[in-house]
Amino acid sequence: MTAVQEERTTEELKALAERAGRELEDATALEILRWAAETFGDRFCVTSSMEDAVVAHLASRALPGVDVVFLDTGYHFPETIGTRDAVEAVMDVNVITLTPRQTVAEQDAEYGPKLHDRDPDLCCALRKVKPLEEGLAGYRAWATGLRRDESETRANTPVVGWDEKRGKVKISPIAKWSQEDVQTYVTEHGVLTNPLLTDGYASVGCAPCTRRVLEGEDARAGRWAGRSKTECGLHG
Ligand code: SF4
Repeated sequence: MTAVQEERTTEELKALAERAGRELEDATALEILRWAAETFGDRFCVTSSMEDAVVAHLASRALPGVDVVFLDTGYHFPETIGTRDAVEAVMDVNVITLTPRQTVAEQDAEYGPKLHDRDPDLCCALRKVKPLEEGLAGYRAWATGLRRDESETRANTPVVGWDEKRGKVKISPIAKWSQEDVQTYVTEHGVLTNPLLTDGYASVGCAPCTRRVLEGEDARAGRWAGRSKTECGLHG
């Protein structure tokens, strides 16, 4: 942690994020992450759903040993946990696994079983939003794998922006990438991906709330399918 980082107020960080968002709009993903590494050092982390390790891989090139934060909701597919373990074993990153305060059994006991079917917003708040909020407390900036082409709700994602909810700089280095760009990077760098991506899933979340996508559907159509919900609250 540098003295400069300590001296920055929330207003200064917000202004920094907004300026960087404009200045880095045309930068490459690696250039954006190098800026993040130089600006925030170890107060910067990557979050990963372990759908693939593309952003973690890019970030490890910019900042070897970078913290990669993974939310273990207790509802993940075994393939997702396996991807997390493989990333931890072979990549130059520091995987940090966050867990909710309650196990699934404890949550069931308090709220009843299958809360994800009855009140997915509450389930996500308990198992994703709150743990991430606590897990990110020590960081000034976090990077995500959000892409503008994933859905309408993500179409205006800035490459660097201000996360008002958490008071942090939010970096989306591959915001402008297409699915083809992701695939090219995966192939060129031999990046780990979740095996479910080759089994009909285009976006991988918790097992009870994720299904395979159909021909012509957008990548996130398999998340909370049949419900009005489209985002878990981490990015809203
Ligand atoms: Fe619960 Fe589904 Fe949200 Fe996972 S995605 S936290 S199971 S509602």
